[in-house]
Amino acid sequence: MPYDIETIRKNIKKAVSGKHVDPDEFRPDKAKDSANPLKYRFFVLPPLKSGDVLKSGTVTQSMENFFIAHGDHWVNDRPHPCPRVWDGSDCDICNYGFELYKECKEKKLGDDRKKQIGQQWMPNTYYMVNIFFTNWKGNPEDLRGKVKYYNAPKTCLDKWMATLMRDDMGDSEDPDAYGVFFDENAAFCFELVAAKEGRNNGYKSSAFIKNNGIPVPMIMNEDRTPNKKQIEQLLKLRIDLFSKIELPDLAKISKLANVMINGDDGDTNNHNGGFDADETAIEAPEAEVTKKGQEKAPAASVATEAKKTGKPVQARTDAKKTVGKPTQPNDDDDIVTQLANESPLSDDSETSSESSNKDDDIDGDDIASLLSQLDE
Ligand SMILES: [Zn+2]
Repeated sequence: MPYDIETIRKNIKKAVSGKHVDPDEFRPDKAKDSANPLKYRFFVLPPLKSGDVLKSGTVTQSMENFFIAHGDHWVNDRPHPCPRVWDGSDCDICNYGFELYKECKEKKLGDDRKKQIGQQWMPNTYYMVNIFFTNWKGNPEDLRGKVKYYNAPKTCLDKWMATLMRDDMGDSEDPDAYGVFFDENAAFCFELVAAKEGRNNGYKSSAFIKNNGIPVPMIMNEDRTPNKKQIEQLLKLRIDLFSKIELPDLAKISKLANVMINGDDGDTNNHNGGFDADETAIEAPEAEVTKKGQEKAPAASVATEAKKTGKPVQARTDAKKTVGKPTQPNDDDDIVTQLANESPLSDDSETSSESSNKDDDIDGDDIASLLSQLDE
């Protein structure tokens, strides 16, 4: 009898942790095998400005960029906002990680050790954006035409930046997406490709739909001009990203760092075979997080747990592990369906995307080499 142990574990974790899943957030599903990556197509929406009127209220804080960067240390299956990533403040957990890196360098230890330090002590950094899913048939039905926020990984940001830096479509034989790809009237659609990479999703094959280097309105009329009215409605569906971010708490981070450092000599081999921390750790139900942004269980509960079990507190290494499918919001379905019907990249305009589908990997490599040039 073929039981899917991964699914069973996931469901158990979900049931026991009672974790709050924000219906506004998009989280890609986990790719099951490397041969069949998951694909999603969406537009990144323009950044919010103070005074913008959204369906949810008036925005009070402008975004500096089209994304908001924030980081989480994952400890015992729970995110702890990193002060260093947020505003450059000292972070005791990062500091310890940097010490270990230094030691690593001095002792000329290998990449495995560096990776381990990264997983255990360094935060996951996210680049939060509003996104609008197109009506493309490859998108899961419940996402088509929806606006969500997405905590994108660095891999996506790098691709977005590379595109922003391009002034034009480049070689007319092989035109590329370029410029302000999130311009609602002249945008490029992004295809997120989630492939199985080790135990996680990897996103390096993601790329813009090049569309022969021609930007499109996010919602267009039949004559392909921007549908101003619908676009205005679309922008109102954006989510005030600042309201979704939990701010770092320096005191909690210090406390947590203490527990982590004292409970762990930093030299365990959690990641070698067998069940490791995030395979087996199940959150205690009493430590339930009710809502992002609200008071979370204090770090002390981690200490208690560590004492109880006599085991060191282990940093979570796979942030996407327990990710569930986002549940569907039901309040703005009407508008959203309307938008979905009007969305420009519907199934009959596949021609531009097919060419980029067949050489995803090549696209990825191209961008990687572009990026390395940018670094120089
Ligand atoms: Zn940190």
